[in-house]
Amino acid sequence: MGTIIEDLYDHEGWLDAVLNDGTETSAWGAPSDHMPVANPSNVVGLRPSCECGWRGTVIEHRGDYPDDDRHDELMKEWHILHVQPLLQRTTPSALTADHEALRRRLYQLAEERPEAALQEVRRLLAWTEEITQIAVDRARGDHGASWSDIGQDLGVSKQAAWERFGGERVGP
Ligand SMILES: [Zn+2]
Repeated sequence: MGTIIEDLYDHEGWLDAVLNDGTETSAWGAPSDHMPVANPSNVVGLRPSCECGWRGTVIEHRGDYPDDDRHDELMKEWHILHVQPLLQRTTPSALTADHEALRRRLYQLAEERPEAALQEVRRLLAWTEEITQIAVDRARGDHGASWSDIGQDLGVSKQAAWERFGGERVGP
């Protein structure tokens, strides 16, 4: 039983045991036909691992499965080096659902009250532009994203992204 992070359902993380014969296993203390089993006597190290194949550093450890505090400490490498960078590029699933609901309502509005739809779209474009600028500044400043990364995220060229969001801003 590993750790699952909301929105990253393909990245369950757990501790593998490194055994004294050099093999590694995620099976603890229970018999298994398919893989070696870790018992207190044959465990020499632990390593954070992820369902996707990511593997952390082996940390020396002897004996029983670690208690909760030690477990969380050992899983920090997985959190910091693997989970956090992935989360930076992952949209919360609840937001995707809201986005889809809004899109459906605007489609309907465009059919039924086209002029109201135009006004709504104008508002939408205004605040998406503001949010884009905030996200670009944050990605560039705090996260060290290149203009190439930004262009890729926005689906435009690096040059187009820079021209639109990188220059001196004019006016209100
Ligand atoms: Zn992973």
